[in-house]
Amino acid sequence: MKRRALPTAMFAAALTLAGVFGAAPAHASKDKPVIGFSIDDLRVERWTRDRDYFVDAAKKLGATVNVQSANANESRQIAQIENLIAAGVDVLVIVPFNSKVLGNAIAEAKRAGIKVVSYDRLILNSDIDAYISFDNEKVGEMQAQGVVNVAPKGNYFLLGGASTDNNARILREGQMKVLKPLVDKGDIKIVGQQWTPEWEPSKAQGIVENALTANNNNIQGIVASNDGTAGGAIQALSGQKLAGKVPVSGQDADLAGVRRVVAGTQAMTVYKPIKAIASGAAGLAVDLVKGTAPKYTSKLNNGKKDVDTILLTPTLLTKQNVDVVVKDGFYTQQQVFGK
Ligand code: BGC
Repeated sequence: MKRRALPTAMFAAALTLAGVFGAAPAHASKDKPVIGFSIDDLRVERWTRDRDYFVDAAKKLGATVNVQSANANESRQIAQIENLIAAGVDVLVIVPFNSKVLGNAIAEAKRAGIKVVSYDRLILNSDIDAYISFDNEKVGEMQAQGVVNVAPKGNYFLLGGASTDNNARILREGQMKVLKPLVDKGDIKIVGQQWTPEWEPSKAQGIVENALTANNNNIQGIVASNDGTAGGAIQALSGQKLAGKVPVSGQDADLAGVRRVVAGTQAMTVYKPIKAIASGAAGLAVDLVKGTAPKYTSKLNNGKKDVDTILLTPTLLTKQNVDVVVKDGFYTQQQVFGK
């Protein structure tokens, strides 16, 4: 009796220790999944909305969410993901700061039996389970078309997003689909192009100030890749009394961006219903934990595998249809029009 009781007691003690020190990830029950949400940068307006909608949707599905923001810092994001793995989350949902450096952290998650969803930005060269985003190539096409509609000819400057973000590259591909035939025809000349580190508006402003100086202000269109950087570009134009005269594109329907569209200093923005991607991602994460098959729309190759993907549809907004954001409950009439 005594001899048999001893190993059982030791086993129980080992289990307790594992629980206390987190040596073995203690996965929550599948009815109440725990989601780790690692976001590149919560200092940017759009991502706070993603977080809020995501947490709401996850709660309704019986899940809890542990949110982390890396504030545009690569090593901080890796450390946060490792902490979420150690804490024993069931699934990781990640908005990568740098699309190329998370391979090892994700391999670690997979070894621990944790599913991984790439959110909005595709994580490259790694074994992720699913990807959800908007059709970013289409967003890029809308941006270029929005500027071309106002300035069909002339000198163009391409203000890209962060070079660390795979979306920045896809947006550029979409933009070039529209611009290339016009460049070939001789209607448009691209006089400069630059990526904006961390999508930082103040850096975008500096880039456009330099471009204006280098071209003696002879620029007729600026294809900016989001509203934050568009804001920087418009500040630079405004310094030369050119705001409203040179069309600038954007995306996200940030409140400031939408207001600039109303005021006429920004030619367009792209409305991407954040509630749809956030609740879609929460559903996807919970489905993956429960082993239910999510509904994918396509597959995208991330350099390692063809990733099951859901791509949602963006909407082009100009002054003519900007009230879509009010009708959709994204903002109030007062917020957008001030009355
Ligand atoms: C997103 C944009 C966002 C940008 C900067 C991109 O990956 O798709 O919506 O404006 O990152 O945060």
